Amino acid sequence: MKPARFAYHAPASVDEAIALLARYGGEAKLLAGGQSLVPLLNFRLSRPAALVDLNRIAALAYIREDTGHVRLGAMTRQRAIEFSPVVRRRLPLLAEATTLVGHLPIRTRGTIGGSLAHADPAAEYPTALIALGGQVIVRGPRGERTLAAGELFQGYLTTTLAADELLVEVRLPAMPDGAGFAFEEFTRRHGDFAIVGIAAIVVGRGGGHCASARLVTAGAGPMPVRLRAAEEILEREGLSDAAVEAAAHRAAELVDPPSDIHASAAYRRNLTRVLTARALRRAITHLDHLNTPNTLSPAPGERAG
Ligand SMILES: Cc1cc2nc3c(=O)[nH]c(=O)nc-3n(C[C@H](O)[C@H](O)[C@H](O)COP(=O)(O)OP(=O)(O)OC[C@H]3O[C@@H](n4cnc5c(N)ncnc54)[C@H](O)[C@@H]3O)c2cc1C
Repeated sequence: MKPARFAYHAPASVDEAIALLARYGGEAKLLAGGQSLVPLLNFRLSRPAALVDLNRIAALAYIREDTGHVRLGAMTRQRAIEFSPVVRRRLPLLAEATTLVGHLPIRTRGTIGGSLAHADPAAEYPTALIALGGQVIVRGPRGERTLAAGELFQGYLTTTLAADELLVEVRLPAMPDGAGFAFEEFTRRHGDFAIVGIAAIVVGRGGGHCASARLVTAGAGPMPVRLRAAEEILEREGLSDAAVEAAAHRAAELVDPPSDIHASAAYRRNLTRVLTARALRRAITHLDHLNTPNTLSPAPGERAG
């Protein structure tokens, strides 16, 4: 199928893009990499009056390292993130998550801002944003606001962004030196969206103790879920095999997954247990026990399971 008719605009600045969104009063759509939007247009599941193409706004594509943070412009391509030395060094979980996003041509066009704004519950970036305790910067006619990761996602393919707002930047605290991490997921075929995925970050304290842990789901509900009660088991009981198993069992109890043509709720719940254990074991293997002075920074507004 072909899309319904739409007007096309290619602004050169963020201000121009915001003015266009305001002009169409909620009837325009932003076009980033087009990897999710264009199929929706072609199936006529989305029929905007206009597309506001962000691809000419060069100022929205960057990866910058600040003290303790990495800032990524919304139009940064997934492929640039995959190969960024800054991301590999400071945010290795995000680098690993990126390799799991679709296929090479999709990552070459797809952007971090587009993926977060699209809010697919099975996508890797929303899960990584919550696991890393990040924030997004949003601009619109009423000015700029900063949203904690947990304040962005509202439900299936739904965010708290207004129709006249633009996600401009993603801010992620650098992972603590020596933290262990893993992003594990189950897909039917290489490059498919995850049926379930789990992001894990653990910070050790030596002697098998856990200073802090993060566990976040993908595909196990209408949006990513932070599994706080499972994290607490590790923080209380340490990183032994028994604690990992207990945390994985608790993780499966904390999710309320859907049944659909891809998998039943029971299957997704079981995957949550299996992948939590798998992600934790790999994260613990990579843990640098000698060099873990910091804990994960708190992330206000996160939804905890
Ligand atoms: C075959 C296939 C397989 C895929 N597999 C995966 C996968 O395994 N994992 C995964 O995570 N993704 C996957 N994707 C999706 C891909 O990652 C998309 O790139 C991503 O979801 C959307 O990013 P985009 O830049 O293409 O955004 P677009 O498709 O251009 O836009 C998506 C939505 O976000 C809005 N938007 C875009 N930018 C902004 C902004 N800056 N501010 C506010 N709103 C904005 C748009 O208006 C639109 O509603 C797959 C896609 C395809 C076609």
